[in-house]
Amino acid sequence: MKVEFYKHNITEEEISAINEVLRSTFLTTASKTKQFEEALAQYTGNKFGVGVMSCTQGLELVLRAFDIQPGDEVITTPLSFIATANSVEYVGAKPVFVDVEANTGNIDANLIEAAITEKTKAIMLVHLYGQMCDMKKINQIAQKHNLKVIEDCAHCIEGERDGIKPGNLSDAAVYSFYATKNITCGEGGAITVNDPELYEWLKIGRLHGMSKNAADRYTKKYEHYDMEILGMKCNMADPQAALLLPQLQKIETYLAAKENICQQYNAGFANNPSIKTPTVIPGKHARHLYTIWVSPEKRDQLLNQIQERQIGIAVNFRSIHLMKFYREKYGYQSGDYPITEQIADSTITLPLYPKLTSEEINHVIQTVNELTS
Ligand SMILES: *Cc1c(COP(=O)(O)O)cnc(C)c1O
Repeated sequence: MKVEFYKHNITEEEISAINEVLRSTFLTTASKTKQFEEALAQYTGNKFGVGVMSCTQGLELVLRAFDIQPGDEVITTPLSFIATANSVEYVGAKPVFVDVEANTGNIDANLIEAAITEKTKAIMLVHLYGQMCDMKKINQIAQKHNLKVIEDCAHCIEGERDGIKPGNLSDAAVYSFYATKNITCGEGGAITVNDPELYEWLKIGRLHGMSKNAADRYTKKYEHYDMEILGMKCNMADPQAALLLPQLQKIETYLAAKENICQQYNAGFANNPSIKTPTVIPGKHARHLYTIWVSPEKRDQLLNQIQERQIGIAVNFRSIHLMKFYREKYGYQSGDYPITEQIADSTITLPLYPKLTSEEINHVIQTVNELTS
């Protein structure tokens, strides 16, 4: 039996939605993008949505909106996909890492204050695997030190903790619709914000900094455009939005299916002393990734063995500070962020998506238990 690491949820509904756009005249940012932005803002309980082409670009755009630049520092987590820290590098600022909580892998809010300097401008956090960070505590620290808070929500559209959803207690939340994310259009991203001025900046900033967007230029009476700020070119286009809209409407159904799979995995591994799993905090987990923690000495061998048995796996994540680029640029070494390194060396991500069948789930459980016993 072969178990894919991921399968998307594109159905005939999404295919006819994109077909409708393909039969229209302009294939870029227009009404579908706007509809998706509004639907995402409403679902997450935020005022505004801005569609972009990736989460990575969305993070960079937000940093530009806050005028974060060379000489500035942004506090972030070393246990994430490299995109998080890279976005800080793109604007010339320095990512300053803070170690994570041993039980969840999320940035440890208790360690943030010690990392704040007079150069610190923002805290960029990740809701790892789909479980939200302690936004109340992080927001308190940010207010006290007058820092921006940016959420990397690549794993977490559906999450909630202490009644707070992504974007509700921060300056901006940035989402990913990359090929393996909870909802996907292949490549895509979005930002939600609540400040109307920031919203206006982001809408212009995602399209060169031009005062009128391209769709308006062609569909309305001709108007000269001006360039007000130096923006990026990362506006979401309607074909992407058409794929995402129906998926967003079904996101709670997908989540229920994934929650159910996680419960089956939990029960299947409960009696295996070689496997630990991250603690689930009360609230709503967006269930993007199901990871197990095994002994670091055996992890790499297990990765190979599981893969040889035709089960798709991934590692989420390797420590960012130990990547060649970061080691060479800032001189990081093993031991600098011990909890991150411990998780990075022991983690294995198993398949998790609504299309997984009971047979496949049981097969994964049996195989992993057999190989770790
Ligand atoms: C996937 C991912 C990103 C990057 O998303 P893109 O849309 O591919 O740019 C950023 N952060 C995290 C935590 C991710 O998992």
